[in-house]
Amino acid sequence: MRYMCPKCNGTDLYIEIGGIIGAVYHCKNCDYIGSFIIEAEEDMIKKLKEKNELGYESKNDS
Ligand SMILES: [Zn+2]
Repeated sequence: MRYMCPKCNGTDLYIEIGGIIGAVYHCKNCDYIGSFIIEAEEDMIKKLKEKNELGYESKNDS
């Protein structure tokens, strides 16, 4: 399980201590700061990155 940025799908996140509201995550890649992050499996990250690089979303009707 890895933490993933909801904005850029980057995995270069670090936790900033958020005090009252708890953990706040900071993305090194796009400077996103927030408590909402995606928890993703390595597999899922790979797939998302492949998708992004191809620039389209596959439609699976199966
Ligand atoms: Zn990001």
